Amino acid sequence: MTVARILAEKGSSVVTVPPHRTIDEAIHLLAEKQIGALVVGDAEGRVIGILSERDVMRALASEGASALDRPISHYMTAKVVTCTRRASIEDVMETMTEGRFRHLPVVEDGHLVGVVSIGDVVKRRIATVEAEHRAMRDYITMA
Ligand code: AMP
Repeated sequence: MTVARILAEKGSSVVTVPPHRTIDEAIHLLAEKQIGALVVGDAEGRVIGILSERDVMRALASEGASALDRPISHYMTAKVVTCTRRASIEDVMETMTEGRFRHLPVVEDGHLVGVVSIGDVVKRRIATVEAEHRAMRDYITMA
């Protein structure tokens, strides 16, 4: 299965946020949208960072409540690893495992076209393994 198929199933909308917004605003957006990360974009729509709930936790742990009024740009990861729609589920799992993160923006021709989370990957992987398991059982009981 490819990232293109995942996006066809879950949709390609991505919650993005400009870098000057505050951590307080980010927290509310994460809670409201029930997601774990925000893709940070510039005025031209380019991906310039990613802010996950872990970044927020780190900010609050090290600076306390004063971090809430600081801009997202201060705490986001600016070196964002991305993938394309052509990437396979195995590629995505490897990238996330090696990078130790759970979100992967999908970018093509400089445009953000979706985001894949570890939850999306695990859900499809389990479905595939279960389908293989069923097929194997049917094959064995038929014989
Ligand atoms: P996560 O596991 O996605 O909550 O993120 C853990 C850490 O990795 C945080 O510091 C994020 O800013 C960072 N991070 C998340 N996704 C990516 C990504 N695709 N590329 C680079 N860093 C990321």
